[in-house]
Amino acid sequence: MSVLKHDKKAIESFFNRLDRSRYMDTQRHLAGADMPCPIGHGQTISQPSLVLSMTLALELAPQHDVLEIGTGSGFQTAMLAKFSKNVYTVERIEALYERAKERLRTEGFSNIHFHYGDGNQGWLEYAPYDRIIVTAAAERTPQALVDQLAPDGRMVIPVGDDFAQELKLIEKDRNGSVHVSTLEYVRFVELKKDTE
Ligand code: SAH
Repeated sequence: MSVLKHDKKAIESFFNRLDRSRYMDTQRHLAGADMPCPIGHGQTISQPSLVLSMTLALELAPQHDVLEIGTGSGFQTAMLAKFSKNVYTVERIEALYERAKERLRTEGFSNIHFHYGDGNQGWLEYAPYDRIIVTAAAERTPQALVDQLAPDGRMVIPVGDDFAQELKLIEKDRNGSVHVSTLEYVRFVELKKDTE
């Protein structure tokens, strides 16, 4: 079955109208700058250009179920929700999970499902996912996420150490074979292990 992807222009235009300050509780005057900003609890919201390029790399379509690891402020979640069927988002810091849930409901999204827990395990209940996005840096790609990616699926994940990571694109073909490539160099906060 051929799948109609969202037009890049539609994604860019929604993105340009999305007010990042609505997803920030501090330093809101920096919302318009293309730089990462603090969201509390030692976490950051990425620079807008990276949120856009990761969203475009996913090649979202309206029928897609998307798994997001690292809800954070919910800014990236909003982008995903606008251009997919359902977003399943996982966050391990309870205060951020609660805040993002409240904020995205206020913004009127009804297709976002929130889970408070460890994203290294994915979210088995609703797997498989057509698209997976990880917004924290992993030492290596968690196998659970690869397993929960559907055939013809795409995942973007920053892989590396604290200082520099490669943003990996992981594609699973219709037979389940996996192909990995590097999109760009990035710097994210760490994807914590559940023991930390
Ligand atoms: N996409 C977010 C980015 C937030 S920063 C935004 O737009 O604001 C990364 C987030 O990943 C943080 O909120 C952090 O708490 C979360 N995180 C880190 N390790 C995690 C894990 N193992 N499971 C779930 N969330 C995790």
